[in-house]
Amino acid sequence: MTDDVLTADQIQAVRDRVATLMPQLRADLEALVRIPSVSAASFDQAEVARSAEAVAELLRAEGLEVEVVTEGGRPAVIGHIDGPEGAPTVTLYAHHDVQPPGDDADWDSAPFEPTERDGRLYGRGAADDKAGVLAHIAALRAHRGNLPVGVTVFVEGEEESGSPSLRTILERHGDRLAADAIVIADSGNWAVGTPALTTTLRGGIRVVVRVETLDHSVHSGMFGGAAPDALTALIKLLATLHDDEGDVAVQGLEVGEAADLDYDEARFRAESGLLDGVELIGTGSILSRLWNKPSITTIGMDVTSVAKASNTLAARAAAKVSMRLAPTQDPLAAFELLEQHLLDQAPWGAKVTVELEEHGSGFAADANGLLHDQARASFRDAWGVEPVDMGVGGSIPFISDFAARFPEAAIIVTGVEDPDTRAHGANESLHLEEFARVCEAEAIFLARVGAARA
Ligand SMILES: [Zn+2]
Repeated sequence: MTDDVLTADQIQAVRDRVATLMPQLRADLEALVRIPSVSAASFDQAEVARSAEAVAELLRAEGLEVEVVTEGGRPAVIGHIDGPEGAPTVTLYAHHDVQPPGDDADWDSAPFEPTERDGRLYGRGAADDKAGVLAHIAALRAHRGNLPVGVTVFVEGEEESGSPSLRTILERHGDRLAADAIVIADSGNWAVGTPALTTTLRGGIRVVVRVETLDHSVHSGMFGGAAPDALTALIKLLATLHDDEGDVAVQGLEVGEAADLDYDEARFRAESGLLDGVELIGTGSILSRLWNKPSITTIGMDVTSVAKASNTLAARAAAKVSMRLAPTQDPLAAFELLEQHLLDQAPWGAKVTVELEEHGSGFAADANGLLHDQARASFRDAWGVEPVDMGVGGSIPFISDFAARFPEAAIIVTGVEDPDTRAHGANESLHLEEFARVCEAEAIFLARVGAARA
């Protein structure tokens, strides 16, 4: 490109600097992964505080003015460093908390002991999202002493718990996060070797469904056959949430447009680990099912365990249900539709209540304009191939809140994950070569934004 804002030599110089930084970035990433900063309430929250402090220290070392802020939830880290006079500001987002590790036995190496195998670094948070934190540190280090733009860094501490205090943080500290561009490093790329901008995210809600049929549990030999037990009633109720083809049966929910990328059943089966013989559920293109249509999953149940089971009709049972939503769906409207469906379908007159536990909006970006063009150019510089636009089936509540708060800012959703990352699962891992590309791309992006506005 002859009219590019950076020369090939300038781009190569940034890439070379990042290459020399990688060993230390890797060491700093491993140190963060060793802190088990699980934000779920049943885990030790002192570890989340410790990871916030570790992130703050990394930012202070790059000359940022840093504050750890807590507004009723987990600690977030906000840092800022000015750029040259009149330069634009870029806000860099990541989160330092992680999902619970699940059962240690499912991991091939201890979840909080970073371990390399076959070019991947394994560990809870190695990708989601401590590598996102380090991508921001990489960009700062690559321009140490000579930042082309002002940079604000915002590293949240409760993303994996639904960001309960984020609104308050934005109310009280949001002014400090204002920027021309916001880079959200909490998503991923289309495939190893193919970078992507994430342009849509699904929203989501989580509800607890409670079913009661008796005022106390009773003997199944004396009452079974005439009185319904709450667990069977709950199972029948949950079974109404999908139709025979596996599409969500709740009426009135929005369905978004299908993405136009190639993604076949074989790739989906390989990436998801679907067992031979198990069918896909739902209809329409696989990507539209994953990115643009609602989905429903039962994620937990309060029932008597198999080990403690006795010949009893259970009086009550509960399930937690997660529903993913089309990117433009209003989550509260979706909750009302789901609640009405569950009340209407209550089997045998069972008493059903539905409690909304959590809700978050999706995101559909206007991914055009100067700053998105520079982001795509940065990907091209780092990977040597054209990036694609992709959707993501998950949610990042921060994005819709931030988009509402700063409608003028270009929101650029990137990340370190690839289809084998297994974020939230056992054996989560980071592809180390891809991580280096992500770091390069972000450092180049800052240079491009500075040059484009110079
Ligand atoms: Zn994440």
